[in-house]
Amino acid sequence: MTAEQLRKYAELAVRQGINVQPGQKVIVRAPVEAAAFAREVVKQAYAAGANHVWVDWSDEDTLRTRLELAPEETLELVPEGYVRDFVGTLEEGGAMLGIYAPKPGHLSGLDAARIGKYYQALGKAMRRQRDLQQASKSSWSMVMIPTPEWAAIVFPELSPEAGMTKLWDSIRYITGLDQEDPIAYWQQKVEQIESRAKWLTDEQFLRLHYSGGGTELSLELPRGHIWVGGRLTDEKGTKYLPNIPTEEVFSAPLRTGVNGVVKSTFPLEYSGQLIEGITIKFQDGRIVEASAEKGDAVLQEMISADDSAQFLGEVALVPQDSPISNLNIVFRNTLFDENASCHFALGSAYPLNLKGGQEMTREQLAEHGLNTSIIHVDFMIGSAELDIDGEREDGTRVPLFRNGNWA
Ligand code: ZN
Ligand code: ZN
Repeated sequence: MTAEQLRKYAELAVRQGINVQPGQKVIVRAPVEAAAFAREVVKQAYAAGANHVWVDWSDEDTLRTRLELAPEETLELVPEGYVRDFVGTLEEGGAMLGIYAPKPGHLSGLDAARIGKYYQALGKAMRRQRDLQQASKSSWSMVMIPTPEWAAIVFPELSPEAGMTKLWDSIRYITGLDQEDPIAYWQQKVEQIESRAKWLTDEQFLRLHYSGGGTELSLELPRGHIWVGGRLTDEKGTKYLPNIPTEEVFSAPLRTGVNGVVKSTFPLEYSGQLIEGITIKFQDGRIVEASAEKGDAVLQEMISADDSAQFLGEVALVPQDSPISNLNIVFRNTLFDENASCHFALGSAYPLNLKGGQEMTREQLAEHGLNTSIIHVDFMIGSAELDIDGEREDGTRVPLFRNGNWA
């Protein structure tokens, strides 16, 4: 990645991703591995008119050490001042960009219960942050930066250097940075996605039926559900793009309306650990059986995070035929893989997926059938065998997906 390409990537994240407005505060969450990129983001944010940019640095090695060595009773400690500053900035309309430089498996070998303790406490402490984000209070987005560890698991056959080069090349391709005008490219693409979301919302299907590749499942949708894709709009009316790349349209399932069996089709990276070959059986929305071929303990820990971690909070439709899928690379990373595959999420639903949902309290959302939880974890279920039908109120069925693509 040349300096010029890095600048273009940062510009895309700032102008299209969080769409910084003059006078706005910006939080940039950045791992130390992505320092060069984070510095470029700071420049671009001030150039776009930001009045203050706070870089919230993190270091995964330090985290690993803490999870390994810190006294057990301190693992749930999250500094109050940190939470207050973070949430306060978002409350007053600050934008947030999350930079991720994933190091898959960086917590492997550690005690899953200790890791669970830490993440659950963090999830609880930062609940308000997630609520604000899910309610689109202000703009937020995320970008991925390659690391040698990540490249090594995506391209195990390549040397570390060649792997990094290929990962950067892939990222440039799927984020549209190779295009003459990446910002215009995304503008045009999200318009297509938005028109599909509008069609699905207008249809107001009662149920979706999934079949193929080991999945046999029906999923009810709540009345007044909204399909969302492409850009979101924050409270001040600023349009922003939470995910670059993005291919999905998503909505909220009815908490108690999921029945059947689903099989995951991609490995899932959760709290630094890997889960593969997930099979989950739902009855009236709740998990009645869950197992994983690999990382089963992590899966069990995840679905016992709270009482609602056993219900679905997101249903997303993504065609197999997309730039990400066509690369035929399993990125072992949710932002990329979820945009290559139909997926569900366990845990919290997005209030914006329900008419009037953004003005509702958590209790009101629950009354309308939306799940709320301290977790929201996407897992991929799409495949070239997957068929999906939409069922209307009168029982007629409309083919939505055939063999993994829009019918
Ligand atoms: Zn999604
Ligand atoms: Zn999700």
